[in-house]
Amino acid sequence: MSTRVPLLAGNWKMYGTAPEAAALVGDLLALIGDVRDRDILIAPPFTALMSIAERIAGSRLLLAAQNLHWEAQGAFTGEISAAMLIAAGCTHVIVGHSERRQLFGDTDAMVARKTTAALQAGLTPIVCVGETLVEREAGTTMDVVRRQLSIGLADLSPDSVAATIIAYEPVWAIGTGRVATPEQAQEVHSALRAVLSGLAGPAVAAAVRILYGGSVKPDNVDALLRQPDLDGALVGGASLKATDFARIVRFTA
Ligand code: PEP
Repeated sequence: MSTRVPLLAGNWKMYGTAPEAAALVGDLLALIGDVRDRDILIAPPFTALMSIAERIAGSRLLLAAQNLHWEAQGAFTGEISAAMLIAAGCTHVIVGHSERRQLFGDTDAMVARKTTAALQAGLTPIVCVGETLVEREAGTTMDVVRRQLSIGLADLSPDSVAATIIAYEPVWAIGTGRVATPEQAQEVHSALRAVLSGLAGPAVAAAVRILYGGSVKPDNVDALLRQPDLDGALVGGASLKATDFARIVRFTA
């Protein structure tokens, strides 16, 4: 029986002004305020982070940013550092989301630099990996996710690997309504745990949480999280509706 505490994380992407985000978090707090046995995290847009940090103070909700730059400061117009995110109230940051990789050119090497910068500053990185549909149909899923994870965590000591969270998010399942089957997800999660073992040893691999992401909804979360290596979910669209996300938080495995 795993001792990993489940984590349900909502990625709000580029949805919501600060007032809209405040309304959503208010609705969410009312629905999940009594939950104790699992971790719950939200990743609002940058502009809402500070006001949401104030709103959730004293609750069990965790706050993440959706991206960061690896440098501490400098002439990097439009970028944001780990220290800035911490000062805004974040404890976590999403790194290497497939939308960053596909639309904004984040490479495996950039993911590694961002992961290292986050950890050095004291943020917990949620490192995302996942194959495209073309890669899955070509039979290269395992090669792709093993490469992404090995390079993304390449510079880390075992203690630092232990301080990360991994998210397996098949690109073909993100925002498409097409979800991986529990068996497909378990197969990849188990392979990722083996990569973690190679990087940092079996004890660390057994302790690191690996989330599944890709069209997680109230009606499929229970079956997914029944799989032994699925330790929670990274949720996009369904995290924007408080009742749906609250149901996902209350999954029964
Ligand atoms: C995501 O953005 O990480 C995600 C998994 O999105 P969705 O749940 O909408 O597929």
